[in-house]
Amino acid sequence: MNATTQRPSHRALRTTMEGQQMKIHIEADRCVASGQCVMLAPAVFDQDDDGIAVLLAQPGPDDIPGVRESIRVCPARALSESPEQS
Ligand code: SF4
Repeated sequence: MNATTQRPSHRALRTTMEGQQMKIHIEADRCVASGQCVMLAPAVFDQDDDGIAVLLAQPGPDDIPGVRESIRVCPARALSESPEQS
């Protein structure tokens, strides 16, 4: 095996990035029930009877942009993510 075949190709790197998923965390005691996360990622977030965010499902690849925007705009900083390999 030469040095060229030992390096991952761009295609392999892209596949790794596409296979990466996130795990979302909600700190419910910080949530102020503003509802932005539900509007931005309705497949991932819902609100309970008090308006507190609840997790419906961990985000799939199509949900990640909305979830990242939810994390960015959450007024209570109640949302966070950790990487998770699929
Ligand atoms: S955006 Fe933040 S404060 Fe608003 S409902 Fe979602 S978790 Fe709660």
